[in-house]
Amino acid sequence: MLNDERMDDKALGILNSIFGYSEFRYQQQDIIQQLIQGNDAVVLMPTGGGKSLCYQIPAIIREGVAIVVSPLIALMQDQVVALQQLGVRAAFLNSTLDTASANKVEQQLLHAELDLVYVAPERLMTERFLNLLERSSLALFAIDEAHCVSQWGHDFRPEYIQLSVLHQRFPDVPRIALTATADEPTRREIIQRLNLNEAKLYISSFDRPNICYRISQSQGNAREQLYRFIINEHEQDAGIVYCLSRKKTEQIAEWLNTKGLTALPYHAGLSVEIRQTNQRRFLTEDGIIIVATIAFGMGIDKPDVRFVAHLNLPKSIEAYYQETGRAGRDGEPANAWMMYGLQDVITLKKMMESSDADEAHKRIEHHKLQSMLGFCELTTCRRQALLKYFSDYLEKPCGNCDTCITPVETWDATVVAQKALSCVYKTNQRFGVNYLIDVLLAKQHARIKQFGHDKLSVYGIGQELDTKQWRSIFRQLIARDLLAVDMEGFGNLVLTEQCWSILRAEKTLMLRKENKQEQTQRRGRKVKYNNNNNDVDNILWEALRACRKQLADQRGVPPYVIFHDAALMEMVERQPQTRQQFAKITGVGEKKLNAYGDNFIAIIKEHNLDITSHSLTDTVDETVQLLRSGSEVDTIAQQRNLKPATIYQHLARAIELGDIKLEQVVDISEKDMRIIKNAFSMYSDEDRKLKPVYEALDGAFDYHLLRCVQASLIAG
Ligand code: ADP
Ligand code: ZN
Repeated sequence: MLNDERMDDKALGILNSIFGYSEFRYQQQDIIQQLIQGNDAVVLMPTGGGKSLCYQIPAIIREGVAIVVSPLIALMQDQVVALQQLGVRAAFLNSTLDTASANKVEQQLLHAELDLVYVAPERLMTERFLNLLERSSLALFAIDEAHCVSQWGHDFRPEYIQLSVLHQRFPDVPRIALTATADEPTRREIIQRLNLNEAKLYISSFDRPNICYRISQSQGNAREQLYRFIINEHEQDAGIVYCLSRKKTEQIAEWLNTKGLTALPYHAGLSVEIRQTNQRRFLTEDGIIIVATIAFGMGIDKPDVRFVAHLNLPKSIEAYYQETGRAGRDGEPANAWMMYGLQDVITLKKMMESSDADEAHKRIEHHKLQSMLGFCELTTCRRQALLKYFSDYLEKPCGNCDTCITPVETWDATVVAQKALSCVYKTNQRFGVNYLIDVLLAKQHARIKQFGHDKLSVYGIGQELDTKQWRSIFRQLIARDLLAVDMEGFGNLVLTEQCWSILRAEKTLMLRKENKQEQTQRRGRKVKYNNNNNDVDNILWEALRACRKQLADQRGVPPYVIFHDAALMEMVERQPQTRQQFAKITGVGEKKLNAYGDNFIAIIKEHNLDITSHSLTDTVDETVQLLRSGSEVDTIAQQRNLKPATIYQHLARAIELGDIKLEQVVDISEKDMRIIKNAFSMYSDEDRKLKPVYEALDGAFDYHLLRCVQASLIAG
C-alpha cells in the first residue's frame, strides 16, 4: 500500500495532469485519501463544490473498476462524456443503450478495462448484475445523490433503499455516498439506510460565495425590471428565469425574444420534443435563457449558468437555495436575482390556505413560507441568514449580497402599522389590500359609501403616504405575520395574534425603506467579457468562444465540456502562445492540451497579429462584407452563428477605423444624434464605458446604438 505522502502526490498529479487543476478544494484531498485506503465516506458538499472528483480520482488510482450509482440518466451521460474528453476510461449502463452496447460495457467491466462505470440503481440491483460484479475487480462504489434514500425528501427513489445490499455482498469494497442536501434528518437517513455507520463524515460549508443574492421589491413592472437586469449585467449569458405558472413562462419567454434575447420556455405542459429541444439548446448554445416553472433544473449540470432570476417567490428557503444553486457551478461570479411584491405574497398564501393538505402539513408549509418571507424582508446580510437556516455559520457579513452592497435603511413604522391594522379591524377583517388602502387614502367610491366606511375614524388617516408606500407596508406586515390572508382564500386580510403588541404600542416596529430603483451592480470581477469591456478583449473572447463551439459541435458535446468559461477568460488574460504556457490554464490537462491546445493558441496568435497591425480582424472584415452585400445585422448574426451584440461590436470597430459610416449601420434622426452626443460629452469617461451614458439617457437607446455612435465620435 502507498504511504500517505506518496498517495497525496499521486492524487495531486492526477488532479494536475488529467483534470488540469492546480489544487484541491474543500476536503477533497482527505476524502480521496480515505477511499484510496479502502474506507467509507459520506460527503455533504454544496452544488458545484466538486463532489465528483472525490470518487473519480480514487477510481483512477485504485485497482479495478469504480461503480457509480446515479439516478439521473442525463447526468450520467454528461459525466461520462466529460471524463472521456479527459482521457479517463468511463462508460455508463442504462436503458438508453442497446443490448450490444450494454454487453460491450459489461465485458469491459469484467476485464477491468474501465476506470468507472455509471449505472442506474434499478439495473445495479438486479441479481444478474450483482453476479457480474462479483466476478469483477471493483475499486469502489460511489452513491451519488444519496439523499434519494430519504423517504421524506422530494427525490425519493425506492431502489436506493436496497443499496444497503452492497455492503453485505461486497464488504471489502469502499463506498462513498454524496449529496448536496444539507439537513440533518436526511444525513441521518443516508447513514442509517446505507449502513454507513463506520464511514467518515465530511461536511463542507454550504456557502456559495460566488453567488450574489439579490432580492428587489417589484415596482409593478417585473418583466421590465428583469429585462434591464439581463441587458445590463448578462447580455450574452446563459440564465434561468423561474415563473410560477406555465402561461407566464411562455409570455415572458416570448416577450424577451421580442427584445432581442434568446429565451425558451420550459414546463411540464410542453411536449417532450419541445422540452428536449429547448434543454439541448440551453446546454449546447451560448447565451440561451430558459424561462421555466420549477420543473426545470433537476439533472441539469450546466456549469456556466450566470444568473437565476425568480419572478415568483419560492415556497421555502430550501427551494430558494436549491434553485439559485443552479447558477455559477463553475465558481465564477453569478447572480441570484429575485423580484418580489405584495401580490406574490398574497397569491402564495391564498394557495396555501385553500390547499387540500391536512392541518399538520399546512402548518409546516406556512412556517416555511414565513421563513422565506422573512428572508426577503431582511435588512441584514442575506448569506448569513441563508447559512444560519442550514445551521451553518458565517462570521462576518458577506459583502456579496444586496443588503451588504447597498445597506437597507429602516424607519420606525409603528404608528403607520397601527393605522393599517386598525383599518383592517374597523372594516371587520373582510377586505383585501386594495380596498383597505382606498379607505386609508379617503378614496371616494361607491363600495366604500355602501358599507359606510367613509364614516369610520380610519377613513383618510393614511394620506401621508401614497398607494405604493402603503402596498410596501402591507407586504411587510404580512411577511412578518402581523397580518394574515384569510383561511377561506378570498384574499381578505385578518389580524393575527402577534399584531396586538403593535396595536397596543407594546412594541416598536422597524420596517425597510424601499429603494426607488434597484441598483444594477457590476460585480468586482468581470462576469464576462461583454458590453462594458474593451473591444479588443471582446473580439478575442468571441473568437475563442466560436472555436470552442466548433470543436464542441464536431464532437457532439456541450461547449463547456471542451473548456469552461473560466478557462477562456484566463486565455484572454494571459494569452498563452506556447503549449507550455497553455498547459498552465486552469482546466487544461494533458489530454485537452494535446487535443485543443493548438487550435486555441492559433487563435490567440492570430488575434495578436491583428491588433498589432491595426488592421481589421478577419472576423470584423467578414461582418463588414456581409453588411455591404446588403444583409441586416440579425441575418449576419444568424449566418455567422454569432450574437447580434457581437456583430454590432464588429461594426462599431469598423466605424471607428473609418471603414464604414454610422448611417450604414443604424438609422438615427438628427435630433436623437444630438441628444446622444450630448450625453457622451457629459457622461463618458476614459474607459469608454457605455453604461453611464445608457443610464443618463434612461435606457431610451440601446447599447448597440450607443456603441456605434461612440465609434463614430472617435472616428471623428
Ligand atoms: P458537484 O459537487 O456539484 O457534483 P462537480 O463535481 O460537478 O460538482 O464540480 C463542479 C465543477 O468544479 C466542475 O467543473 C469541476 O471540474 C470543478 N472542480 C472540482 N474540483 C476542482 C478543483 N479542485 N479545482 C478546480 N475546479 C474543480
Ligand atoms: Zn451579505
